[in-house]
Amino acid sequence: GAHILCDNLVRIYKTGGVEVVALQGLDLLIDRGELVAIVGPSGSGKSTLLNVLSGLDLPTAGVARVAGMDLLAMSAKDRLRYRRSIVGFTWQQTARNLLPYLTARENVLLPVRLAGRREHRGHADELLELLGVGACAGRTPMEMSGGQQQRVAIAVALANRPEVVLADEPTGELDSETSEEVFGALRAANRELGVTVIVVTHDPLVATQVDRTVGIRDGRTSSETLRRTSTEGE
Ligand code: ADP
Ligand code: ADP
Repeated sequence: GAHILCDNLVRIYKTGGVEVVALQGLDLLIDRGELVAIVGPSGSGKSTLLNVLSGLDLPTAGVARVAGMDLLAMSAKDRLRYRRSIVGFTWQQTARNLLPYLTARENVLLPVRLAGRREHRGHADELLELLGVGACAGRTPMEMSGGQQQRVAIAVALANRPEVVLADEPTGELDSETSEEVFGALRAANRELGVTVIVVTHDPLVATQVDRTVGIRDGRTSSETLRRTSTEGE
């Protein structure tokens, strides 16, 4: 069945008596193991959707189910478990991804410790290796390039072996070559670890290399959600 299911999802923000409808009946179906890009204009609801799927934000109405868990109805305890071990997240703002005074390895081990699990230095190093940043294990973020920081952030998102990784604009501020490396790390997580990946992006380089692109406009998925084929152009 579907790994990620949104049915008629609504999120209304109320600020100072004004209502903003960020999601207005959004439908989404993603299978286990898919690598999906979400694209759409600024303000179309992409961040809101990621916040809901990451368990950070509670939608106003509708259905959102990930890995069999109901995001609208789960207990506080389940929400914590969901956020710790079912879903991993990388932020658009790179500074939010990594703690500056910890090395890459320590950044990866931190969520493992917070989940009350045994920290295996070797596992952290293997993960960094898989994403092409093994050489960064002992470095702090300041000692890495922007692309290396994003790949380490993906390793942090994968630290507790989640089923789903959500990445918000991971290549937003990077040149093409570096973007390729960062996208390659997401693809490695998808292919080698079997993780379902959703990436919000404006980057054509990413949008044309995923399994499927889902368009969002005005808080809804657009009808033409494209499946990539070898004959398809830019
Ligand atoms: P995108 O990520 O596609 O740019 P967002 O999900 O950030 O879109 O925003 C969708 C709409 O919801 C926008 O009109 C935005 O201003 C509004 N919005 C998002 N978050 C909040 C919030 N916390 N409070 C009020 N309005 C919000
Ligand atoms: P994006 O590049 O995704 O559009 P934004 O700068 O619009 O990013 O939003 C950054 C954060 O601020 C998001 O978490 C979003 O939910 C929140 N946000 C967006 N619009 C508003 C708003 N009008 N009021 C409060 N928070 C907002």
